[in-house]
Amino acid sequence: MQDYDDQFKNLAKDAPFDQSPVMPNMLEGDTEIQFRCHRGVKCWNVCCGNIDISLTPYDILRLKNHFGIASGEFLQKYTVPYEIDKDGTPGVKLRAVEGGTACQFMVEEGCSVYQNRPTACRYYPVALLSIRRSDEFTDRQAYALVTEKTCLGHQEDRKLTIDQYRHEQGVDDYDEKGRGWRQLILKKKSAGPAIGKPPIISNQLFFMASYDLDRFRAFVISESFNRTYDIPVEQMAELVADDEKLMEFGYTFLKHVLFNEKALTEREGVYEARIDRLKAKAEQFRAEFEANRDKLEDEKYSGECKPGDLSCGGND
Ligand code: SF4
Ligand code: SF4
Repeated sequence: MQDYDDQFKNLAKDAPFDQSPVMPNMLEGDTEIQFRCHRGVKCWNVCCGNIDISLTPYDILRLKNHFGIASGEFLQKYTVPYEIDKDGTPGVKLRAVEGGTACQFMVEEGCSVYQNRPTACRYYPVALLSIRRSDEFTDRQAYALVTEKTCLGHQEDRKLTIDQYRHEQGVDDYDEKGRGWRQLILKKKSAGPAIGKPPIISNQLFFMASYDLDRFRAFVISESFNRTYDIPVEQMAELVADDEKLMEFGYTFLKHVLFNEKALTEREGVYEARIDRLKAKAEQFRAEFEANRDKLEDEKYSGECKPGDLSCGGND
């Protein structure tokens, strides 16, 4: 079994560029780094001028509330979709300015959403590695240092540990609130190769519960959801009123629907009804398959004798 270090070495070995700015070391929180970013550095704003920033559900929650808009509007205006893995697990990144590479939130003074800037921006130039061994149930965090030549903060005269830097940048809270979601991603990745792509509906549910919180809220209070799941009234009231509670509930919901973890209580008869629906679908699929096969055979043997057709071929 590979341990963390082996996994990381492979990661560094497979890096596409020789001059990768990610130091090929897996660092612990007590590792000391030399770094300081401040308005006086010559490279001020350089890093925000060429962005590739993936967003977590908590990043989106904070930013949509920063602007006081619904999650759907935030996603449309400020993000672009991408696929996290080969199964098409949906992710979202910050959208750059029209026709450019700079962040839309960058202003001369720095970051216009500083209090609510995303996790990746807080971490930079440290990168978070979330790792889980196949024989472990929880992930653990390790770090890497990104040393891009354009970033002069590494030449500043200040040393501190990664943990101190994380604390200074306020990532503890972001990490804590993103943990459930990171575990879902790891779980998806370590689930092994799937046979074919997962159904589109799985990815749609993943997108809605992870990123489109206001649409997820409407789904959770819908009649069909409440016909299926037995959510206590007090909890439902919290989900309606509290974005963070709803986000955490989204992680639980995804565990239930994607990994069959029985994390939610289903109402009586729901399971049986689902099995009946699946049976009906399987029956419909079988009937369509047979009809199609007969049609194909008819086309293939039109004008010829079908194998086993005893009424054919009597003119010899
Ligand atoms: S959100 Fe702020 S810190 Fe992050 S890239 Fe944009 S301007 Fe820079
Ligand atoms: S020091 Fe690095 S992080 Fe700070 S502005 Fe310059 S490039 Fe960006």
